[in-house]
Order: sequence, then C-alpha cells, then structure tokens
Amino acid sequence: MERRLLVAANWKMHGQKLQNEMLLQALLAGLVKENAPEIVICPPSIYLAQLQAELKNTMLSLGGQNLFTEEKGAYTGEISAPMLVDFGCRYVIVGHSERRCLFGEDDELVGKKFVAAQKSGLIPILCVGESMEQRYKGLTDEAVSTQVERILKKVGVKAFGSAVVAYEPVWAIGTGITATPEEAQAVHKMIRVAISSHDAAVASKLRIIYGGSVNAFNAWDLIAKSDIDGALVGGASLVADQFISICRSMGGNKNA
Ligand code: PEP
Repeated sequence: MERRLLVAANWKMHGQKLQNEMLLQALLAGLVKENAPEIVICPPSIYLAQLQAELKNTMLSLGGQNLFTEEKGAYTGEISAPMLVDFGCRYVIVGHSERRCLFGEDDELVGKKFVAAQKSGLIPILCVGESMEQRYKGLTDEAVSTQVERILKKVGVKAFGSAVVAYEPVWAIGTGITATPEEAQAVHKMIRVAISSHDAAVASKLRIIYGGSVNAFNAWDLIAKSDIDGALVGGASLVADQFISICRSMGGNKNA
C-alpha cells in the first residue's frame, strides 16, 4: 500500500494579484515534477479565478480554504462547494483552527462542511489539533480523538477513503514552534489507529499530514516519520524558496 505524499499551501488572507503571480512564477520555475508530492495551493477565494488561469496545465492543483454547508441560497458572503468546483478546486480545508477559534466553528458545523465538500466531489482536508492548554494537561490524545470521532460518527468511516486529515496542534500554527517529529508521529499514529478500529483498509490508505510551523529546515525530519504523509503549510508557503524546499523534502510516496 502506498500513500502519495501531499503538500498543501494555506495562503490564509495573504496575497494580491501581482504578488500571487510572482509567487506562482517562482514556484513553477523551481518545482520539478519528478518525485514531487501532490501540491495544492489554497489561496483566498477571491483569487481562485486568477490561480485557476495561471495553474492550468501545471503540476499544481487548487483548493479552497473554507466553504459553506449549503449549495446556494441567501447566505451573504458565503461560498459553496459547487462554486469551488467551478473554479477548478479539487480540495478544500475544513475545520482549520482559525475557523474554529476565530469564527466559532464547532465539530457539528465542520462535519456538515465535510459532507458538503464530498457531495460536490471535493476532497476535504480535515484539520484537528489540541490547544496548548490541552497539551500541558496531557489531554492531547483525548482532544484530537474526540474531534476525529465526532466527524467519523457523522460521515462514516468510508468517507475517510476520499479525505485527508491534517494534524495541526493549535500552539504550533503560525508560532514558529513545531511539534517534534516524535510528538507529531505519536498523534498521527493515534489517529490512524482510531480510524483503523473502524476500517483498517481505509486507515492504511488515509493521508495524515502535519501542519504547524513547517519550514525548509524541519520538513525532512517530519516526513521521515512513518505516519506523516505530507504537510499543510501556512507562513512558509508564501516564501517561494521555503515552499520549494519543503516540497523537495516531501517528494514521492510513502509505503504503508
Ligand atoms: C496553517 O495555516 O495551517 C499553518 C500550519 O500555518 P503555519 O505553517 O504558518 O504554522
């Protein structure tokens, strides 16, 4: 069983047309197809059209940072799964900790977004992760497995056959503090075992990527761990050299 490694760039609310173009040009000039991971760029949704045009016939694919649960209707300011598909998205991030913490998204809503994404053929990248306080109190496994189990209960284990899980400790996101490869591996393994208790085949195929201050220096050690199948990258995805270097460290497949 092989898992194709995946590196997803979460641009968050960064970039403007000219900067986007320069960053994409630098990425396309520096990335090589051979032994590359699957690479997904998730820009702010207003720039999806720009990226769809610029990424045509390239090795980079496109993802949304968020979506709404409904396909259409009177939901001012929201964006639906069919709209993301319309602009060439293949993936969408759901349950990012910034959505959970700043916009009050709970597991119930995250589960609905997961379902809405898959209904339109998008692959959800489901983010889970513990807070600093939970880690200090020794509650990491409990916090993360509760998040995973709640979504599992809502969507069923087979739905994880076409999903990605991103383990993102909240204390590591945008802080420059990364979980050690050992800390990350322990949680990734715990997630895989939890999924495996429902369906071993789904668990062994599932890509579980790590996010939280991944950079050119720590990518190599993280990807060396057996249950880490790639990365969700925020800050470093805005710096071409950094992102290229992360993608180079995380190339190819992982044998399960
Ligand atoms: C993220 O946005 O999901 C993230 C992990 O950000 P950073 O790499 O900046 O910590």
